[in-house]
Amino acid sequence: MRRSGSRGVDRVERALLTVLRPDQVKTDDASLRVAARDASLVRPTPPAVVCLAESHDDVVAMMTIAADLGVPVVPRGAGTGLAGGAVPSGGAIVVSTARMNRVLDVDRDNGSARVQPGVVNLDLDRLLRSTGFHFSPDPSSQQVCTLGGNVANNSGGPHCLAYGVTSAHVLAVRVVLVGGEVVDLGGDDPEPCGLDLRGAFIGGEGTLGIATEITVAITPNPPVTRTLLLAYADMTSAANTVSSIIAAGIVPAAMEVMDQGIVRAIEQYVGAGYPTDAGAVLLVEVEGLEGGVAANEVAIRGIAERMGATSIRTAVDEAERALLWKGRKTAFGAVANIAPDYYLHDTVVPRARLASVLDEVASIGVRHRLMIVNVFHAGDGNLHPLIVFDRRDPGVLERVHEAGADIVRASLAAGGVLSGEHGIGIEKQEFMSAMFTDDDLDHQNRLRRSFDPLGLSNPGKVLPSSHSCADIQQLSSVPAGVWL
Ligand SMILES: Cc1cc2nc3c(=O)[nH]c(=O)nc-3n(C[C@H](O)[C@H](O)[C@H](O)COP(=O)(O)OP(=O)(O)OC[C@H]3O[C@@H](n4cnc5c(N)ncnc54)[C@H](O)[C@@H]3O)c2cc1C
Repeated sequence: MRRSGSRGVDRVERALLTVLRPDQVKTDDASLRVAARDASLVRPTPPAVVCLAESHDDVVAMMTIAADLGVPVVPRGAGTGLAGGAVPSGGAIVVSTARMNRVLDVDRDNGSARVQPGVVNLDLDRLLRSTGFHFSPDPSSQQVCTLGGNVANNSGGPHCLAYGVTSAHVLAVRVVLVGGEVVDLGGDDPEPCGLDLRGAFIGGEGTLGIATEITVAITPNPPVTRTLLLAYADMTSAANTVSSIIAAGIVPAAMEVMDQGIVRAIEQYVGAGYPTDAGAVLLVEVEGLEGGVAANEVAIRGIAERMGATSIRTAVDEAERALLWKGRKTAFGAVANIAPDYYLHDTVVPRARLASVLDEVASIGVRHRLMIVNVFHAGDGNLHPLIVFDRRDPGVLERVHEAGADIVRASLAAGGVLSGEHGIGIEKQEFMSAMFTDDDLDHQNRLRRSFDPLGLSNPGKVLPSSHSCADIQQLSSVPAGVWL
């Protein structure tokens, strides 16, 4: 059903229809409702219009209209963001890049691929695997999330421990600014001259412009990969194993910890072969040449034994390895076996403080009468406490948000940071002042203004309202910290 529009919306829609086909400009209820939210608990806000961009030129045309009419623009990939980054401000044009999903070029000689922003992470990876390469950043949402979203959130994943998060794999980005100006940031050279504006754009969460083309570095497939599953009586021993492995000078491709609560849910869901009597399990993957991999496996087994591992297993073949990873990668789906809703948190703490912060997280759960399970990229200290709940329970959402805030405070108190990979969005913007000084925030705002002087690109995100451009505050109808 078509929504009856206000005069302002009709004006925006009419202008967009001068440059786009009618099937690219959506104002029906269903389209607006889908674009009103992402995967976070931030309260949905329907935009004025949803535009389905099919090309770079479409985005240029929309960004020109946005500036002419003074209307905010919110880029959107797959909407899997967990911080409210793609939740629109009222009256905004949502620019969906889902139809811009072509891999334009794969250059094996130079180890790069040029893609449109709507390419799904796993689609790129699958296409590359047969060529002897892969795309390293592998968020757990990789079956649906897009490269544009990965770049905007500087996303990570289990295999980012050894190779780095998205920014380490992006060579160049073509960006359309509000007003339609096009800038090419970075370049094919590993060390392009000039200021690293490519680096400034990555992690900008859509507040600096819209990426319409991304050149990524592709990684050669390793000759040998070995995956170990280590089980422990308690989380502390698993966390200490992680610190000891890194302290021994070994940087595995991945190190993922799961506690008993999530292991039991996974086993019920997919039967990955994890021991359900263990207090925590640690999935470790090492890769490289056979000699190095074998030496690292022996060393890791030795460390695991010293840390009191109750069982140590190496996957015997590719099928077993795939099953171990299937368990980890379906962990969030498995949570449905515990309760219908969850709030997936994301902070980083110094690796040596993992065990103590996890104890604190457990106390936070008890204090707020909430179940918290843990599944996280332990190698880089990235915590993902998962608060599991049923939103029909009266008062539970307040307790969930309080517990989330306590987890952030505990992580910061331990010397950690606000987010490892999910970004700031709306969810954490009011915590920015706890992490950065006023001067820091003012400088971030100046950088933002240099890309977007009108403050129309995804306004009301990342920077706290006290440090955003004045025009952004006026335009945003999503006050910080507005939750479901
Ligand atoms: C179950 C689950 C597991 C997850 N696991 C991980 C994980 O392991 N690691 C991780 O890092 N994240 C994870 N995430 C979070 C999320 O999937 C990532 O942040 C992902 O990169 C978002 O991609 P998207 O296409 O869904 O972006 P969206 O949610 O659509 O947008 C995210 C942000 O990017 C901006 N944006 C989108 N496209 C563009 C563009 N072309 N130009 C400029 N800005 C743009 C949006 O405005 C928004 O601010 C997970 C999410 C879920 C639901």
